[in-house]
Amino acid sequence: MNIDLSNKVALITGASRGIGRETAIQLGQAGARVIINYNRAKEKADEVREAITDSGHEAEIFQADVSKPEEVKALFSFIRDKYRTIDILVNNAGVIKDNLLLAMELSEWDKVLDTNLRGAFLCTQQAAEIMMANHSGKIINISSIGAIRGGRGQTNYASAKGGLISFTTACAVELAPKGIQVNAVLPGMIVTDMSSRVRKRAGDKILERIPAARFGEPADIAKLVVFLASGNAEYITGQAISVDGGMSIS
Ligand code: NAP
Repeated sequence: MNIDLSNKVALITGASRGIGRETAIQLGQAGARVIINYNRAKEKADEVREAITDSGHEAEIFQADVSKPEEVKALFSFIRDKYRTIDILVNNAGVIKDNLLLAMELSEWDKVLDTNLRGAFLCTQQAAEIMMANHSGKIINISSIGAIRGGRGQTNYASAKGGLISFTTACAVELAPKGIQVNAVLPGMIVTDMSSRVRKRAGDKILERIPAARFGEPADIAKLVVFLASGNAEYITGQAISVDGGMSIS
């Protein structure tokens, strides 16, 4: 399928590494003008920008901790000043802080909820204001199959990612009449920094639970995000779509 996102302005949060990085690159290849948000890894964000601009497309980087309202406001001031609009928002920034329920520190709970859920809320609120004025826009939230399967030590992460699915459906209902589609993507076990420790510790056992018999690659997720961001997905909203090689149904 040939997807053309020429002149569309796309913000991907947490795009310095992993799934966000590949999504930014694929959106750039489809012609979008890409804003690469990062928190700490400036050098990596620069590499992503170069990968996009070297292939003849447009990209900028912008540092902001998505959990901090004033930093999100600064990010969107930059977008308003430079592009005057936003067409695509990918709420991808995420962290894990695994711990068993009784040992879970409040700081670990808050960090995960603040980054994965509050961050998506803050960015969506800013983006939706512009999209509503345009009567057009696509918002894609990167949740996780951890939201529906539950994982040991992940009460914080499951709550954040489950909350993100509920947030998606509520936003979709509210924003559909305004011409905005909101969907969630639920990755399975994807080869990135985030999953490296668990893959090292229990990789073979996890593979046994994946009918496709391989871990996912960031590109597996990015391809769906690009589709959902395109005009081919105009009538899809409020959905939570797993991309997991069958892991969630086995
Ligand atoms: P990753 O490789 O660890 O990358 C995480 C990205 O999020 C980095 O670019 C990081 O930026 C950014 N980030 C973290 N905290 C941030 C903050 N407060 N503000 C802005 N950016 C922040 O993770 P990944 O595996 O690509 O995960 C991407 C998304 O997919 C996450 O939401 C994750 O929960 C979800 N997911 C991943 C998997 C998997 O198996 N990998 C499975 C299901 C869901 P800096 O490096 O610049 O700090």
